[in-house]
Amino acid sequence: MKTDVLIVGGGPGGAAAAMFLAREGIKPVIVEAETFPRYHIGESMTGAGGKVLRDLGLAEEMYRRKYPTKQGVKVYGQSTAGSWFVPVTGRDENWNIFEWDTWQVRRSDFDKMMLDEAVSRGATLVHGTAVKPLLKGDGSVGGAQVRMADSDKVQEIESEVLLDCSGQATWLANRGGVTGPKYLGAYDKQIAIFSQVVDTIRDNGGTRETNKDNAVIFYQKKFHWGWFIPLDDQVVSVGIVCPSAYFLEKKESIRDFYIRELRELHPELSRRIPEIKLVEDVHVIPNYSYQVNGFCGKGFICIGDAHRFIDPIFSFGLTVTMREGQFVAPIVRAYLGGANRDKANPFAEHQLFCETGIDVLEDVLDSFWEHPLSFAHCVYSRYTEYMTDMFAGRIYGHERQPTPALHSFRKLLKREGERERSYETADQYSIPIGSRYHPERAAIWEVNSPVETTEKWLGPR
Ligand SMILES: Cc1cc2nc3c(=O)[nH]c(=O)nc-3n(C[C@H](O)[C@H](O)[C@H](O)COP(=O)(O)OP(=O)(O)OC[C@H]3O[C@@H](n4cnc5c(N)ncnc54)[C@H](O)[C@@H]3O)c2cc1C
Repeated sequence: MKTDVLIVGGGPGGAAAAMFLAREGIKPVIVEAETFPRYHIGESMTGAGGKVLRDLGLAEEMYRRKYPTKQGVKVYGQSTAGSWFVPVTGRDENWNIFEWDTWQVRRSDFDKMMLDEAVSRGATLVHGTAVKPLLKGDGSVGGAQVRMADSDKVQEIESEVLLDCSGQATWLANRGGVTGPKYLGAYDKQIAIFSQVVDTIRDNGGTRETNKDNAVIFYQKKFHWGWFIPLDDQVVSVGIVCPSAYFLEKKESIRDFYIRELRELHPELSRRIPEIKLVEDVHVIPNYSYQVNGFCGKGFICIGDAHRFIDPIFSFGLTVTMREGQFVAPIVRAYLGGANRDKANPFAEHQLFCETGIDVLEDVLDSFWEHPLSFAHCVYSRYTEYMTDMFAGRIYGHERQPTPALHSFRKLLKREGERERSYETADQYSIPIGSRYHPERAAIWEVNSPVETTEKWLGPR
C-alpha cells in the first residue's frame, strides 16, 4: 500500500491532522491500534482548542452532542477562602479579546466523533498497530510496517510523510535512531490517579465564573493537586496528582489511595463529592513528563504527546496536539509539492515553531509551581489579559508571544536571555528545556515508553 501521508494514531491529534490535510486536498491513511470508542484521559479544552474545532466546522456538532460548555477554570488555593478564576477567551482579527466558550469532552465519544469525521472527509482508516518505521537508503522515513488487527499479518504502508500521532506511546521515538533521544521531563516523578464520579455538587450557574460546567482545580501543596471536570449533567472526571514518592509511602491500593484522597486532598473537593460513587475504573498514569529532541526529520513529523508532554494541570494537551495537526497541513502540502526536499531536516522551521510554543507552556507551568503567589498576582491584577492568552493556549510566536507576563516569569525563573540565544538557529536547539533549567537533571536520562515505566513502577496489576 502507498500513500502520500501516513498517520500513526487516530486520537484527536491524528484525526485533526487528517481533517486539515483533507482541506489541502491530501487524503491520508490513519493507522489506529485500538477500536473506538475507548477510554482516554484528557477531557478539558482551552479556548484555542475549541477554536480548532470551530475551524474544522465542528462547533454545531459539539453543541448538538451537548458536551459541557466550559467558560473558565477556577483554582482553589490551600484554603477554600482563596480562589482565582481564568475565563475562556478568544481573540478577533484585530487582537481584541472576547469571552468565549470551549468544551469538556468524554474522550471515548469525542475521539470516535473526530476519527469518524476524518474518515468521512477522505481519510482511510486501517485497523492495526504500527510496529516499525520503513527506512530508506538515506535514512529518511518512508512509511511503516503495520500489524493488521484482523489477520495479525504485517503489511508495509509506504509514505512520503509519516505523522507520528501516537500520543504517550511515543512510537517513533521509542523505535530508536529516527528521532533524537527522548528525555525525562521536569514532572516525571509525578503520578496521576483518576476516575469518574456521580452525584456531585456543582457550582450553581448564573455567571460565567459559577457556570456548573467549568473545570475546577484544587491546589493542596506543591505538586499535589486535584481536578474536577464535568463530562455531562451527571458524571464528573476527578483526578488526583501527586509526587510518586507520596503515593508509595501510603502503601495503599490505587483505589484506596484515590478514595482517601477525594476525602482529604482539599475541603472544597470533598464538599463537592458528599458520597463517593464511582462509575469508571480507577486509572493511573505515572511518569508522564518527557520531551523528544529532533522530532521532525526527513519523511516524518511527530505531533502532540508523540514528542512532548509537560504537566496536565492547565489542560493544554488537546490544544497542542490539535493545533500542531492544523499547523502541519500546509507544510506537508508544500513538501509534497517539492519544498525543502533537499534539506537535512525539511521540517526544521516547524519543529522550532512548535518547540518555542511549548516552551511558553513550560515557563507558565514552572512559574505556577515555583512561584504560586506571584503567579496568582499576575492572573488577578498584573497581567490579566496576557494570562488569559496563555491559559487559552495562545502560545505561539504569531500570537504575540513572548508577552510581558512571560518575560516576567522568565525573570523569576532566571531564564531571561538564555532562551532567546539558544534559538538563533534551529540546529542549536538541541538541549531539552526541562533539563536545561533543572540543574539536578544535568545528567540527562533517556527513558522508555510510559507503558513500560508503569509496569516497572507498580508491578503487575
Ligand atoms: C493525567 C493526565 C490528565 C490530562 N488532562 C488533560 C486535560 O484535561 N485536557 C487536555 O487537553 N489534555 C489533558 N491531558 C493530555 C491529553 O491526554 C493528551 O495531550 C491528548 O490525549 C493527546 O492526544 P493525541 O491525539 O496526541 O494522542 P492520544 O489521544 O493518546 O492518541 C494516540 C492514539 O494513537 C494510538 N496508537 C499508539 N501507538 C500506536 C501504534 N503503534 N499503532 C497504531 N496506533 C497507535 C493509540 O491507540 C491512540 O488512540 C492529560 C494527560 C494526563 C497524563
